[in-house]
Amino acid sequence: AAMIVLDGVGKQYADGSVAVRDLSLSVPRGSLVALVGPSGCGKSTTLKMINRLIEPTSGRILIDGEDVTRADPVELRRGIGYVIQQVGLFPHQSIRENVTTVPTLLGWSRKRARARADELLEMVGLDPATYADRYPHQLSGGQRQRVGVARALAADPPVLLMDEPFGAVDPIVRERLQDEFLRLQHDLAKTVVFVTHDIDEAVRLGDRVAVLASGGDLRQYDSPAAVLGS
Ligand code: ADP
Ligand code: ADP
Repeated sequence: AAMIVLDGVGKQYADGSVAVRDLSLSVPRGSLVALVGPSGCGKSTTLKMINRLIEPTSGRILIDGEDVTRADPVELRRGIGYVIQQVGLFPHQSIRENVTTVPTLLGWSRKRARARADELLEMVGLDPATYADRYPHQLSGGQRQRVGVARALAADPPVLLMDEPFGAVDPIVRERLQDEFLRLQHDLAKTVVFVTHDIDEAVRLGDRVAVLASGGDLRQYDSPAAVLGS
């Protein structure tokens, strides 16, 4: 069964602008779905509706069968890791503290949170012995982006939402981050919705690609190759 279902979802902002119109999308458990489209077509709005940072004005969103508008938002977000471009790391906290934000809120012991942070930093290719005690400004853009992924994974959420996570770095670093992310996803098998304006990135990373045109038309492709062939 699908892990995430959007059923006729629409969003009209208070100023009257329609960001998303009648969007239906089904994300199988453990798959990586790329949602691609031009700037302004409603990609970020869609992700924010899935983790309920904003409310849809029409339609329904189900995660694991549960309507997100009926879920407790705190409970809901515990099950969702969220990665955005220009990850807002806390500048006055060490890398380890940044990664353990959510576990700390959940009341994990210091020892457990610390072990988890170090495990995750290792996983995203940042040696904890070198990086855990550094501060965000001491890391490169690519390294900060990796910390953002580690932080999103900290409480082991089944769902990962990623909004242009590789957009802020130069093309060579981007390709390396993409490869690392694919290896990570191969092991973790999260249910991932990934947003990008870059069709090549969507095809490279997605198990499936959903193309959103401005105006809200959606075309779904079960194989990334089909996107390029059309
Ligand atoms: P994308 O992520 O594809 O670039 P967005 O979801 O950010 O698109 O935006 C979709 C549309 O909704 C755009 O026309 C944008 O200007 C509008 N929009 C986004 N956020 C707001 C907001 N808070 N208030 C009003 N309009 C918004
Ligand atoms: P990445 O490929 O991860 O983006 P870069 O090529 O940008 O890495 O950076 C290479 C090295 O330079 C990294 O090991 C990083 O620690 C170091 N570095 C980059 N920016 C800074 C900085 N502002 N302060 C200290 N070290 C930095």
